[in-house]
Amino acid sequence: MVSAVLAMKAIVMHARRTVLIPLIAIGFIVLLPAIIPVAIVLNLLQKFRMRKAAKTFKCIKCGRELGIASLHRADHVWSNYVRELTRNDPGVRLRLLRSVHAICLGCNTWYRFHKKDRLFVVEEPWPSGERAP
Ligand SMILES: [Zn+2]
Repeated sequence: MVSAVLAMKAIVMHARRTVLIPLIAIGFIVLLPAIIPVAIVLNLLQKFRMRKAAKTFKCIKCGRELGIASLHRADHVWSNYVRELTRNDPGVRLRLLRSVHAICLGCNTWYRFHKKDRLFVVEEPWPSGERAP
């Protein structure tokens, strides 16, 4: 009786794998023309909101306005960090969550953008972040 149940479970699992995965793949391909534009618009909206917040946000340590340059500085630090990770471990697939979106030009304070409140929150720099330009 137990082996019959196990055999049944194996058949169901096999059916899920052989039917469900192709269905998901086909659904993804069919929806791709809608997914890509939506993703692009959401990304542009995020950048616009971050730029708008950076133009008015004052650093909590030195009082200097963050501005667009602080976003560029964080982009530079982040891209260097990712480049260093991929150079150190080539072939490794990375799942990264960006934690720095702005770096104050006056006092080197790191900020993460809080999407919901549309403001910047202080972030601890990584150990290698001390090399920020
Ligand atoms: Zn500052």
